[in-house]
Amino acid sequence: MPNPRVDSPSTSDKQYIYNFSGGTADGDASMKNLLGGKGANLAEMANIGLPVPPGFTISTEVCTHYYDNQQTYPAGLFEKNIPEALQKIEEQLGKKFGDADSPLLLSVRSGSRASMPGMMDTILNLGLNDRSVEGLAKKSGNSRFAWDCYRRFVQMYGDVVLGLKPADSKQKDPFEEILDARKKALGKELDTDLETEDLKQVVSAYKTAIKEQTGKNFPEDPMEQLQGAISAVFGSWNNERAIVYRKLNNIPSWWGTACNVQAMVFGNMGERSGTGVAFTRDAASGENIFYGEYLINAQGEDVVAGTRTPLKINHLKEWNPGIYQELDNIRIRLEKHYRDMMDVEFTIENGNLFMLQCRVGKRTGLAAIRIAYDMCKEGLIGEKEALQRIEPEQLNQLLRPVFDLRQKQMAIDEGRLLAIGLNAGPGAATGNIYFNAADAQEAKDRGEQVILVRIETSPEDIKGMFISEGILTQRGGMTSHAALVARQMGKVCVAGCGSLDIDYTQGTLRVNGHGTILHQGDALSLDGTTGEVIAGTITTRNSEVIEVITDQTLKPEDAPVWQIFDQFMQWADKYRKLQVRANSDQPDQAELAVKLGAEGIGLCRTEHMFFGGNRIDAMREMILAENPEGRKAALEKLLPFQRKDFYGLFKAMGSRPVTIRLLDPPLHEFLPATDDEIIDLAKKINRPVHEITHRIASLHEANPMLGLRGCRLGIIHPEIPAMQVRAIIEAACMIKKEGYDIIPEIMVPLVGAVRELEITGEIIHKTARSVMAEQETGVQYLVGTMIEVPRAAVTSGEIAKAADFFSYGTNDLTQMGLGMSRDDSGQYLPAYQDLDIFPRNPFASLDIEGVGSLVKLSAKEGRNVKKDLKLGICGEHGGDPATIEFCNTIGLNYVSCSPFRIPVARLAAARAALQS
Ligand code: PEP
Ligand code: MG
Repeated sequence: MPNPRVDSPSTSDKQYIYNFSGGTADGDASMKNLLGGKGANLAEMANIGLPVPPGFTISTEVCTHYYDNQQTYPAGLFEKNIPEALQKIEEQLGKKFGDADSPLLLSVRSGSRASMPGMMDTILNLGLNDRSVEGLAKKSGNSRFAWDCYRRFVQMYGDVVLGLKPADSKQKDPFEEILDARKKALGKELDTDLETEDLKQVVSAYKTAIKEQTGKNFPEDPMEQLQGAISAVFGSWNNERAIVYRKLNNIPSWWGTACNVQAMVFGNMGERSGTGVAFTRDAASGENIFYGEYLINAQGEDVVAGTRTPLKINHLKEWNPGIYQELDNIRIRLEKHYRDMMDVEFTIENGNLFMLQCRVGKRTGLAAIRIAYDMCKEGLIGEKEALQRIEPEQLNQLLRPVFDLRQKQMAIDEGRLLAIGLNAGPGAATGNIYFNAADAQEAKDRGEQVILVRIETSPEDIKGMFISEGILTQRGGMTSHAALVARQMGKVCVAGCGSLDIDYTQGTLRVNGHGTILHQGDALSLDGTTGEVIAGTITTRNSEVIEVITDQTLKPEDAPVWQIFDQFMQWADKYRKLQVRANSDQPDQAELAVKLGAEGIGLCRTEHMFFGGNRIDAMREMILAENPEGRKAALEKLLPFQRKDFYGLFKAMGSRPVTIRLLDPPLHEFLPATDDEIIDLAKKINRPVHEITHRIASLHEANPMLGLRGCRLGIIHPEIPAMQVRAIIEAACMIKKEGYDIIPEIMVPLVGAVRELEITGEIIHKTARSVMAEQETGVQYLVGTMIEVPRAAVTSGEIAKAADFFSYGTNDLTQMGLGMSRDDSGQYLPAYQDLDIFPRNPFASLDIEGVGSLVKLSAKEGRNVKKDLKLGICGEHGGDPATIEFCNTIGLNYVSCSPFRIPVARLAAARAALQS
């Protein structure tokens, strides 16, 4: 690789080399595709007159040429183009490449369109040889410095270009071995203790090692060095770590990297020199302060290597006020120019400041939001751009508790990361583990913070989930019971963590492949945003926004983060077209949803209303009844609960629309599972155990998700929807009598054929008419359907004739559309994502090509029949930004999601509207 063959024909007179120097450049910031991020920004900084050492960028097209033509270069590159570009630098600086008196030294760095930190190669101090090292010594008046540069260069070149770098971390770098041996022989501890003569011996030993291992001499010819370094940079585009990084970050291999060749400036020339990195604002908090670090008498790698503790940028004010002022002016200039927070690298050589890099700075979610807000207030950007600047998911950092990041990193470094599951409920939770709701409750009563750990959850666990900080399950997907209930409650949840082995009887949690066993009461932390499960306690920080909105423990005027959040939400509401509703089944959840901006309820899962208290028993009694009489008796018990809950929901929502879905219990989620639960239920509902066991056996279904659920249940047992509709209309009449207007939207689940909707519709209308007659009150209501069975989606034209609205139940539509269980997919979906079968979990982000096509077709067919058919989505995808963008494109009226997702959905809807 070091000696490139230059034998391919010239393709055209294409420009492959782009020069830059103070005040002018061939390129600019818009040319990232051609010049890579680093090259484009060096050109831009040069254009606006910042002090950039002169240099040139070899374009990404050379890299693609190199790979498309058996690792060869365009003709003339090394004979003509590069020498010409070098000459320009030499003329400008009055130095000469390889000169014995005043040598020009170069840095050669990679730089692709997207930043790939540390993935590709860099070579510094290039151009040094036995002659020019003396020139550098003379010119700098510091021979130790010159020989130290030479030592570093030979080592870097040997490692990177000549391939002496060890293949894995178990082997030692041969150059490090030589250096260590030399230090030992001289009884010296630090590199900096070595003197000129020592360094000369090290360089000589390095060269001997190179000769021994490669059979060739270290190249003394600077042009040969340069060719080798450029080939190494282009070659590093396809090294293993770069390939892995590209795959993880969706960077296509055909982009290629550019190569930046630039005059060296030295931060290690003595006590008037230094080097540093800085952000134009604080990248963690977003505060408008200059934030950075530097080292005196050091080169760039020393700051990154962390062997010396850098000084804060404020210290620069005292050390060299002139340079500080110059740098601060550059910070303001860059922000005005780029209208964003930038991250810069700089070097001070003998009291002169040089800028070596600038790019848009990476930042936390909190910082992103604060910076966009402040820049809007400062007039640098408009509110539309501020909205586009933040990813909707970043809002989670304002809404959910988060870990102290330093503590979390320490825990990971200590090997406490046990496993990674599905990131089913965002936020950070820490507490002691308990394996059932009763033990969790007792621990909570003792004042402990609790993490509930279950193989999978069932309605039995609801109370335990409610009092826990977080929930961890071994089985289950993104739309499993645990995941959707946790999200609705706003709980942190990691689901489907297959490497766990939970033993309820022993009270232990083993982690396969980790050798850790946790016992009941041991501390565990869950990151529901990433799916990480970490042993031990990590401090969490509360959300200021939640303290203002729901806890009301903080006043808005004392909460600057809340003020920013509130402003963003106002901007988002101004631009979005989609309405945002909540999936809620309890009045308190509904109230929270309204505070977070919900404009209605898009899905009330009525079966969830039976989770609390002893309602589950009446529900089970109803399911287990042998005949209509038995069922009616149980339904009589459920009616008052339902009426009260609907009344509460209507009240909480004021005049906002409320969609109530008729019962849709996948039976297996509701039946008692263990002998103890059966015995307990038998006592409560006064039936013999054997009868219940027998009835459960007769209700057993091979595929409960495709079984007697949804509208099928009401068609077979019409008394069930009749009770529910009675409760809805009675509650609506009560509200009406109080002087408010409410139009309930009654929704029928799991419809596949229009006849199912018609039959259920008849039950609804008949019941509603008789309740209104009894109550002597008229209320309006709508009857619509979920579209969650593929057959319903493709026959939506027919179904629309019997429906006032459609709501897309994309959880089941994904399950049935993909033929993939929503409860068990956690086991294989991570592998599917790794293999790019589905780039994202299709239960979290809609499979737009497949399931999305069903939704699009259905919306079109439905609206062909009824122009103003109201359309919404209420599957868990309703809170996913990419899905929301799709919903905006196909013209849905609203998205519905769990309460804590509402701000994310409002922002995503605004961004979707602005982008379209
Ligand atoms: C759905 O299937 O998308 C839906 C909202 O209903 P559930 O999750 O209750 O089945
Ligand atoms: Mg469903």
